[in-house]
Amino acid sequence: MSTTRIYNFAAGPAVLPEPALEEAQRDLLALPGVGMSVLEISHRSKAFEAIIGGCEAAIRQLAGIPEHYHVLFLPGGATLQFSMVPLNLLPAGSWADYVVTGSWSEKAVKEAKKVGAVNVAFTGKADNYVRVPKAGEMKLTPGAAYVHLTTNETIHGVEYHALPDVGDAVIVADTSSHMFSRPLDVTRYGAIYAGAQKNLGPAGVTLVIIRDDLVKKAAESRAYATLPVMLQYGAHAAEKSLYNTPPAFAIYLMGLAMKWLVSIGGLSAIETINERKAGKLYAEIDRTGFYRGHAAKESRSRMNVTFRLPTEDLEAQFVKEAKAAGMDGLKGHRSVGGLRASIYNAFPEKGVDVLVDFMKEFERKNG
Ligand SMILES: *Cc1c(COP(=O)(O)O)cnc(C)c1O
Repeated sequence: MSTTRIYNFAAGPAVLPEPALEEAQRDLLALPGVGMSVLEISHRSKAFEAIIGGCEAAIRQLAGIPEHYHVLFLPGGATLQFSMVPLNLLPAGSWADYVVTGSWSEKAVKEAKKVGAVNVAFTGKADNYVRVPKAGEMKLTPGAAYVHLTTNETIHGVEYHALPDVGDAVIVADTSSHMFSRPLDVTRYGAIYAGAQKNLGPAGVTLVIIRDDLVKKAAESRAYATLPVMLQYGAHAAEKSLYNTPPAFAIYLMGLAMKWLVSIGGLSAIETINERKAGKLYAEIDRTGFYRGHAAKESRSRMNVTFRLPTEDLEAQFVKEAKAAGMDGLKGHRSVGGLRASIYNAFPEKGVDVLVDFMKEFERKNG
């Protein structure tokens, strides 16, 4: 039976690269040379060592990640990192600065406050999260344990186009929904985390890239010994993400997706494609006044394009008719409303062209 793939604009879990899905499908019954499915093998086997090692190697290659950073594959989603970050990196008596640019950074703050002292250095809530802070707008507190940024807000479609100047503070970033969508200099960060199901792979694994001295420093704090082992970065780093049984299939598929990313030319190549895709969509949004972008121009996300139509009825009609035309996942998040087109790395450019044509026709009929 042949299966037709439609255009999947969902924010996450989201579209995956077809070559990765095809390889996984082909090898699902028996990995070449192994004779067992990746779903059936021990996480301590040579075969799995090669899989997790290959995934890490591709990730290191893509961003030129130096040896003094750990690359970890953890369970619990980006949401668990909202807790693990402060549990490990925010010692008693200290505090952390959080920059709040949308719903995900709000959630990060909420969890961090359960653990320790939080200073909200900026919040864009008053204008419903349309932009990142301008230079000088953040009230950073010197001596903070770290500054937390959500570098792409998936729900509001708000993205930093460049890292803000935070002096010599340690940056911890939730990069979930634009990880590896553009070149990344990890040495500017103390830690980076990203749930895989947006732009890296399937749900079930979270990529954490963290500087070794931060892991060591965390392990020296008095509270660390009382942390459940699964919440200790040090335990996962020491065991190379194999302290317990990892989400093996998710890591395998992420490895295939990373291999695909390397094969098409890596992060600068994908950035060129992503710029072009987002550019086409925003150009259509800006062409007349019919569509209205949610985010301010200088903070527009290349991954999650959020926009409104003149009425909610038209928005509902748009989603319905788009779905009938083979485009799914365009309804905006319930907290923001409107439309959202998530156009991650694996989303085909052809699908953006199809959406733009559909938008033109929809406006012609209803504008
Ligand atoms: C989806 C998302 C999360 C939550 O990820 P889970 O893996 O579901 O926990 C956190 N931050 C951002 C920016 C996201 O897009």
